[in-house]
Amino acid sequence: MKRSILFLVALLALAPVLTAGVPKIVAHRGYWRAPGSAQNSIRSLVKSDSIGADACEFDVWISADGVLYVNHNADVDGVIIETADSATLANCHLNNGETVPRLDDFLNVAKDLKIDLVLEIKPHKDRAREDVAVPQIIKMIADKGLTERTSYITFSRNAFDRLVEQSGRPVLYLNGVSPKVLKEIGGAGSDYHINIYRANPGWIDELHAQGMPVNIWTVDSEADIQWCIDHGADLITTNEPELAMELVQKAYGDHPLKVMTYNLRFGERASMDRLAEEIKAADPDFVALQEMDVNALRGAAGSNKGLSYINELAQKTGMFGYFGKTLKFESGGYYGIGILSKHPARSVESFELPNPKAVEPRVLLAGVFELDGHMPMVFASTHFDYSNKETSEKQARYAIDILKGFGLPFIIGGDFNAMKEHGAVQAFMEVALPLSGDEDTFPADAPVKKIDHLYGYPVENFKLKSSKVGVASPYSASDHLPVVSEIILNYGYNK
Ligand code: MG
Repeated sequence: MKRSILFLVALLALAPVLTAGVPKIVAHRGYWRAPGSAQNSIRSLVKSDSIGADACEFDVWISADGVLYVNHNADVDGVIIETADSATLANCHLNNGETVPRLDDFLNVAKDLKIDLVLEIKPHKDRAREDVAVPQIIKMIADKGLTERTSYITFSRNAFDRLVEQSGRPVLYLNGVSPKVLKEIGGAGSDYHINIYRANPGWIDELHAQGMPVNIWTVDSEADIQWCIDHGADLITTNEPELAMELVQKAYGDHPLKVMTYNLRFGERASMDRLAEEIKAADPDFVALQEMDVNALRGAAGSNKGLSYINELAQKTGMFGYFGKTLKFESGGYYGIGILSKHPARSVESFELPNPKAVEPRVLLAGVFELDGHMPMVFASTHFDYSNKETSEKQARYAIDILKGFGLPFIIGGDFNAMKEHGAVQAFMEVALPLSGDEDTFPADAPVKKIDHLYGYPVENFKLKSSKVGVASPYSASDHLPVVSEIILNYGYNK
């Protein structure tokens, strides 16, 4: 599944219920399986908020005398809400002893909580009653300052059309129409039973390509919830919100990663075997590589002459390898930077960096990689200009803009040709977290400068556990020491 930036932007526009990345947990009819709770009770609302669920789903009816009630079934204790008056309903109780809640009372409690609201309008026998209910609901939500926290769902096409016309909020349709039809009728996203998505395997991608969030109901088993996580659900509607939160935490919580950046000095000092051993000893998830040749006839490269370093290193380390060209040699072959990854890529692209003094072309090589088959992140490698600090800063700021544009957490490693007092490093310090220590990396035999860096963005998604320079080598395989860091990437799930 590819989530385009457009998709992310579209989702973010629907915040706070519908944000990109980590699936949100919607407590179906509130957290009614909690002790003392009942479906659609005020207690179920409070309980869903107290466990930290993202949203509480509940169902709304209008009585014969125009009072809005929260209840799933058409009746309470055998009294049909749609045809009863509020005096009668005042004596109807839920099975936890609460009186069937008026929407007004329900929302008065909700407004003091943090949880978002997914309000379902039930299909009334008399569709004209829905026409009365919709504007009343929208006004009540607005009067209590809950508009931005509320999205709407319904099975009723009539109520759906009224909500799309009047609410100005995301309206998700509960009937499993195709993504194309959903778009035509003005739906903000889908909210379908899990079996509908299973029967139509292309729909989730199609919905995402249209910028539409995907809500899946009602998933209670571990296998079903995991299916939703693995298939890119944006919202998971469940009667087991605590189990769902636990599984999302496992999928999107703390991910330990090892990352490395290493300038290879175009293989002048060591064989590919030796360089591969250095990398394997560090056992990294990702490596940003600089100064590597591909099929070049460089005299100084010795036994590496004519080799494709990226292919050699990928094969010898068992990792995926990607190359970004900066120079083409007249005698044949290329020079540039690379990425090694244990994780598969969705896409890898090379971006040319500004080069105002026309010294030497520089690129940013950046890929979207998938962790555990579902969690996308960006890893990038670069090598900035060495001759002019204004140029390297310009390149750094340009690289940051490109990387932010992915709308995903990113890690960048590289030879910045800049120390921490220089603009290229300062640019990263302003927005990102250093994912390495202060140890000098250059020149490798007697280092006096730190010019090889690793950064993570956004700051709150990363933790640096440890970092070191060098690996296990008794002598240096390059003129730079590699930097190897153990980090934690938390995709943003902190419950
Ligand atoms: Mg419902």
